[in-house]
Amino acid sequence: MLDNDSCQTESKSAQELVLKQRTQILHALCSSGSAESLERVLDILLARGTLIWEDYQNVQVWGRSLHTNARQLLDLLCTKGEDACGLLLAALKQVLSEVQQACLSFEGCCSYLEETEEFPSTDTRALLTKRTELVSKLRECIDGALAALVESGSFSSADCDSVQLPVYTPSQKARRLLDHVKSKGESAAKVILQYIEQKQVCGSLLNQETWNPPKELLKYQKKLSSSVSAQSCFLSTYGGTGHMPLDDIYTESHLQLGHDCAEVHTTLSLEDIVGVVGTVNKEADTVLVSGEAGSGKSTLLQRMHLLWARGAALQDFLLLFPLSCRRLNSEHRELTVQELLFQHCCWPDRDQDLIFQFILDHPHLILFTFDGLDELQQSFSDEHRVCCPTQPTPVPILLFNLLQGYLMKGVQKVVTSRPEAVGPALKRHLRKEVLLKGFSPSSINSFVRKHHREPTVAAQVLESLQSNTALLGLCHSPVLCWIVSQCHKELLGCGGGSPQTITDVYLMILEHFFQHQNPLKISVGLCWLHEHLSTVLHLGQLAFEGTQMSCYVFSGSELETCGITERDICTGFLIISKDISSTCSRCYEFLHVTMQCFFAALYIVLNDNIDRSTISKFFQLQDVRETNKSSTCCKFCLPFPAQHQQLFHVEVASAETPNMQITATFVSGLLSQRQRSLWLRNCSSSTIDRKVGQVVRCLSKGMQTHFKSIPKPVEGEGKSMHAMPDFVWLIKCIYEMQEDSIAKDAMTKLEVDHLKLTYCNIGPVECTALAYVLQHLTNPIGLQLDYNYVGDVGVEQLLPCLHICKSLYLRHNNISDDGIRKLVAKGIQCENFQKIALFNNKLTDACTQHFSNLLKTKQNFLAIRLGNNNITAEGAKQLAEGLKFNQSLKYLGLWGNKIGDAGAEALASALEGSKTLIWLSLVGNGVGNAGACALSNIIKNSTLEELWLTENCINRTGVEHLIRALEQNPRVKSVCVKLA
Ligand code: ADP
Repeated sequence: MLDNDSCQTESKSAQELVLKQRTQILHALCSSGSAESLERVLDILLARGTLIWEDYQNVQVWGRSLHTNARQLLDLLCTKGEDACGLLLAALKQVLSEVQQACLSFEGCCSYLEETEEFPSTDTRALLTKRTELVSKLRECIDGALAALVESGSFSSADCDSVQLPVYTPSQKARRLLDHVKSKGESAAKVILQYIEQKQVCGSLLNQETWNPPKELLKYQKKLSSSVSAQSCFLSTYGGTGHMPLDDIYTESHLQLGHDCAEVHTTLSLEDIVGVVGTVNKEADTVLVSGEAGSGKSTLLQRMHLLWARGAALQDFLLLFPLSCRRLNSEHRELTVQELLFQHCCWPDRDQDLIFQFILDHPHLILFTFDGLDELQQSFSDEHRVCCPTQPTPVPILLFNLLQGYLMKGVQKVVTSRPEAVGPALKRHLRKEVLLKGFSPSSINSFVRKHHREPTVAAQVLESLQSNTALLGLCHSPVLCWIVSQCHKELLGCGGGSPQTITDVYLMILEHFFQHQNPLKISVGLCWLHEHLSTVLHLGQLAFEGTQMSCYVFSGSELETCGITERDICTGFLIISKDISSTCSRCYEFLHVTMQCFFAALYIVLNDNIDRSTISKFFQLQDVRETNKSSTCCKFCLPFPAQHQQLFHVEVASAETPNMQITATFVSGLLSQRQRSLWLRNCSSSTIDRKVGQVVRCLSKGMQTHFKSIPKPVEGEGKSMHAMPDFVWLIKCIYEMQEDSIAKDAMTKLEVDHLKLTYCNIGPVECTALAYVLQHLTNPIGLQLDYNYVGDVGVEQLLPCLHICKSLYLRHNNISDDGIRKLVAKGIQCENFQKIALFNNKLTDACTQHFSNLLKTKQNFLAIRLGNNNITAEGAKQLAEGLKFNQSLKYLGLWGNKIGDAGAEALASALEGSKTLIWLSLVGNGVGNAGACALSNIIKNSTLEELWLTENCINRTGVEHLIRALEQNPRVKSVCVKLA
C-alpha cells in the first residue's frame, strides 16, 4: 500500500497474520460443523513436529466443541512463535478449500512446508511423521488393519470397538486407530506400517476383487436396472396426453454449485452431481440438489436413473436405489435399511442377505437417490441417532440417518428438495449443494423444438414467446415451459390477451385439458368452467385437503371421499402413482405438485362454504405460521384416514409452507379483477367480493409487517431494508392480482433508500413481479439484487422500474452483453439512474460500447463497476472513448478483467485531468510498468483519491513512477500496489 504518509510496501509476520485473522481462521475451520479440516491441520502439525504428542492431546479433546478445540490450537501456536504460526498458515492453505481460503491471507507462508523429509528413528515416530499419508491410506481399509492388529495380539476387541464407533467418519476412524497404536508402543506400530505396505503391494489384486462381484449380485443388478429403466423411461406429465419418452424431451437445465467455486464457471453436468467438483465437505456422502417446485428436480433424477440403468452414465456405481420421499410417506412400519431398499426399490429373488452384505462391504459402489425431501411429512431432524443398518426404525428417522451418514457411511446419496426445507441441521452433513435453476433461454428454445416436432409450430410458439417477455420469463421454469408448449393452440389463438401471470398459464392448461377430454365439443367463451364445475370442485377438495396435510399420494377411497369419479380422473390431472415396489391397490397423484396447489386454490375461490378463516391461514407469514403450527393443524376438518391425520398431528410437514404459499399465489391470481367473469356464473358475487377483500387485507398486512421490521437508519446513512423470505412471495401475489391500485398502495408505505434482495432466488419471473410493484415507489431507491439468477430476460423485466432506481446492483447474475444493451438503452432515459454494479457476470468487450454511449450522454452518472468479467484492452478503449466526454463519473471498477497495458494507457489518457473521478480499481488486470507509468499521469493531474493496482505485473520501475506522481498530488489518499 502506497500512501502519502508512508510510501513503502508492507508485509506482516506469520504470527501477526494469525492474530489478525483469528476470527476468519476459526470460521474457516469450524463453520461447516465437520471436524475434518481441524484434524487434517493437526495431522500436518504433528507430522512436522510443531505439536508434540502432549500438545495434540490438549488440543484434540473428544466431546469438547470444535470451536473450543480450534481456539486452543491457535492460542498454543501463538505462544510457540513465528515458525509455528507460519506452519499453521501453510497447513491451512493445504487443507482448506478455495472457497474457505478466500477471506484469508497467507503471505509467503507456503515455504514452511517445503522442508526435506525426515527419516524417522522409530516406528512410533513414523506414525507421527507420516500421519497425513497414513490417514488417507488407512481410511480405505480400517477393517483389515484392525484384523491385523488383533491377530498380532496388539489390539483387543475393546480397542477395535473404540475405533469403530459408527459416529466416526472413515478418516476419524483412521486417526483413532493410529492414536491407539501409538499408545501400544513400537511393536503395534510395526504391525500397522507393515500392513499398509503389504496392502499397497497387493492393491491391484484387491481392485480386481472389487470389480468381480458375485454372480448373485450381478443377477440382482440386472433386475434392479431393468426395473429402474422401466420406471424412468417416460415423463409423467405427459401421461394424460400420450407417453413421451424421456429421451425425446429431456432438455439440459442450468445446474450450478451452491457456493462460489473458482474451478467451475459453467453449468454442471449430470455426472458432476456425484463427482468431486465443488466438494465442500469430503467426509460427507450426501449431495443436495435444490430448486423451486417445477424446476425439474424429479426429472433430473429420473434422467440419472435412466442413464445409469442403461449403462450410459454413473457406471462407477454397481447398484442405484431410487427412493421417493413422497411415496415413503405412506410407509408406516419400522424398517431396517435392507427392508427399505429391497421392499421399496427392487426385491432380490434370492440371496437377500448376501446381496445386502455386499452393499455393506462396498459402500463406494452404491448410490441412493431420495427425491423430494421437502415432501416428507416429517421435517428433518437430527435428534434420533441410528447407526445399525439391521435395527428396525421409523422410515423418516432411517432417512435422516442415511443422509447424515450415521447409517451406511460411504454410500453416496443424492437428495432433492425445495430450498426452504433444508436447514442448517442437514446442511452440516452435505458434501455439496447443487442448485437447479431451470431452463436457460437456449434450453427453452430446444425444449419447444423437442415438444413440437413440426418445425413451423415450434417456430410459432417461440415467436409468440419472444413477443411476450413476461411469458418467456415464466418459461424458465420447466413445468411452465411444458404447460405453455402443451397449450400452444390456446396460446397462438389468444392474440392480444396472451398469458401474463402464472395463474393465467394454469387456467390455460385447465381449459386445455377439459377441451382435450372432449375435442368434438368445443365450449365457447367462459362456459367451459361452468360445464366442468363439479370436476373442479371434486379435484379441488382433494388437493385442498392434501395440501394442508402434505399429502401427495391418494388412495382410491380418498378419491371417493371427495366424490371423484372415473370421469373426473379421465380429465388427466391425476396420474397413477408409480411405486416400484407397490403391491397394494392403485394410488393417484396430481400431475405436478403445483397443479395440486392450483386445484386447492380453485377450491378456495369456488367453494362458497369454505371456512372464513381459510384465506388468512394460507396468507400467514412464515414466522407467524411457525408459532401457530399446532393450532393451525388441528383445526382443519379432514376427511382422510386416521393414518394421514395421525402423522400430521405428530410432526408438521416441511412442505406445508411452500405449498400453502404457492396456493395463496394462485388464490391472488384467481381473485384478480381480470378473472372475475369466470367466477360470476359459478359463485355468488358477494362471496367473491369478500374473498377479494380478505386477500387484499392479507397482502397489505404482510407488507406492513415487513416495513415495520426495517431498522432505524444509522446516522448519516439512508434507510435500508433487507427483504425477509416472504417479501418476494408477497410481491408475486400482488403481481398475480394485476391491480395497480394494490401495488401502489403497498409501495406508498415503503420508505427506504435501499432495498436489499441478495440471495433471494430471484429469476426472471420474480423480476417481472418486482418491476410491476416497485415502479409505484414514490422515492428513488438503490436496488440490490446481487447473487440471484436474473439473467438477460430478468434484466429486461426490470426495465419498467429502472426510472425509480438510483443504483442497481446485479453482481453475480448470469447477465450477458445483450442484457446490458437493453438495460443501458433504457437507463440513458432515466434521470434518477446513477450507479450500476455488475461484478461477476458474463460481460465482454461487446458491452463496453453501450457504457461508452451512456457515459457520453448521461452527465449525472456516478459509478460503473464491471469487476470479474471478460473485458480486454479493446473494451477499455471503448470505455475510454466515453470517459473523454463524461463529466460526472466518480467510481470506475474493472477488477479482475484483462485490460493489460494498452487498456490502462487508454483509460489513463481519457481520465487525465478528470474533475470528478475519485476511485479507480484495475486490480488483477495484467497491467505492467507501461500501464503504471500512464496511470501515474492521472495521479498527478485529476481528482482521484484512491487507485487500486494490486495483483498486476508492476515491478520496481512502475512503482517508482507511481511514487513520484504521488509526491506531486497530496490529494491522493492511497495507491495500492504490490511488487510483481
Ligand atoms: P420438480 O421435481 O422440481 O418439482 P419436475 O421434475 O417434476 O420438477 O418437473 C416438472 C415438469 O417439468 C416435468 O414433468 C416435465 O414436464 C418438465 N421438465 C422438468 N425438467 C425437464 C427437463 N430437464 N427436460 C424436459 N422437461 C422437463
